[in-house]
Amino acid sequence: MSNKADYYDVLGVSRNSDSASIKKAYRNLALKYHPDRNPGDAEAEERFKEAAEAYEVLSDPEKRQLYDQYGHEGLHHAGFEGFKGFGDIFSAFGDIFGDLFGVGRSGSKRGRDLGVEVVIDYVDAYTGCETKVKLPRVEKCDACAGTGSRSRIIQQCPNCNGQGQVVQGMGFIRMAVTCPKCRGTGEFPSDPCPECNGQGRINRQRELTVHVPAGVGTGARLRIRGEGGLGESGGESGDLYVEIAVRHHERFGRERNHVLYETKIDMVLAALGGDLEVPTVTGETRVVKVPEGAQNGKLIRIPGLGFPSPSSSSGSRGDQIVSLSVVTPKNLTDRQRELLEEFALIEEEKSHEGTLKGWTRKLTDKVKKALQN
Ligand SMILES: [Zn+2]
Ligand SMILES: [Zn+2]
Repeated sequence: MSNKADYYDVLGVSRNSDSASIKKAYRNLALKYHPDRNPGDAEAEERFKEAAEAYEVLSDPEKRQLYDQYGHEGLHHAGFEGFKGFGDIFSAFGDIFGDLFGVGRSGSKRGRDLGVEVVIDYVDAYTGCETKVKLPRVEKCDACAGTGSRSRIIQQCPNCNGQGQVVQGMGFIRMAVTCPKCRGTGEFPSDPCPECNGQGRINRQRELTVHVPAGVGTGARLRIRGEGGLGESGGESGDLYVEIAVRHHERFGRERNHVLYETKIDMVLAALGGDLEVPTVTGETRVVKVPEGAQNGKLIRIPGLGFPSPSSSSGSRGDQIVSLSVVTPKNLTDRQRELLEEFALIEEEKSHEGTLKGWTRKLTDKVKKALQN
């Protein structure tokens, strides 16, 4: 009476195949013809149902024996009707589809990534530091050890009978969806934990210590694995991103990995050159050589005293760059004035030998007048 295809042919397996190869063959076909992947394709629907029916029979030793001996007729007489629709198929093989499509009990979900900003001092960014951050996040409930049950015994969800998924839809188009009661875990406590209302998870204000590596700058983001929101159904926790902002320092600036330091020097030191003591970020002082004839804005580099590169393990660092700002003396004594005027006269004599600049001439006229008085 049946014009149905042979079940072994449908799955493409031989008559003496073992159950593992039958299951494998079915998984491959189910994956290929699954309605999620072939929406509206009637041919795929037919293949999908056919494969499910063949698997239903060949994976059951009793039905398989009946089929081997009496064919489709034998099964029909034994009351086997095959499947009415997708709903039956999903109910029968939910675990297989769970594996294939990540629904049902294996519907684990990774926790959310969280972000927090932390403000640190300039010196801490230079040396690296530990800092505390506070953030609200979802954590496992301690009171019930995450089970959601006061007795800490994991209980089957009554809505889906522990399957983690339920079949929804009308008529022929029916789909397995994640159970709304247990959110796919297949577990639901009859004695909900009062701390977390049976959720097994709880919102908490958490304080964490964060290691900030030396050399970070404003805008740097640190990723701390697993410190974000709690995963669901055994999914891993999200990550925490810590965004760094560095406070300004009253004496030091920063350009990339260089420490900038601006200092005033008097005119005489600039002209004659000499030693200059400058502070460093760590609080020690360094002596640098001001060259003879240093101009306003002159830069002196102290190699290796800048910020380390936080991303490189090579230990490379920037420099400290000292910028000189030459200060003209004020409130001169008579003697100082005398000396400077004498200095100016000599400059004038020198300038006659070389080029005479306008401003020098103006100055010297004034000086001459002053000397005449
Ligand atoms: Zn709890
Ligand atoms: Zn459920």
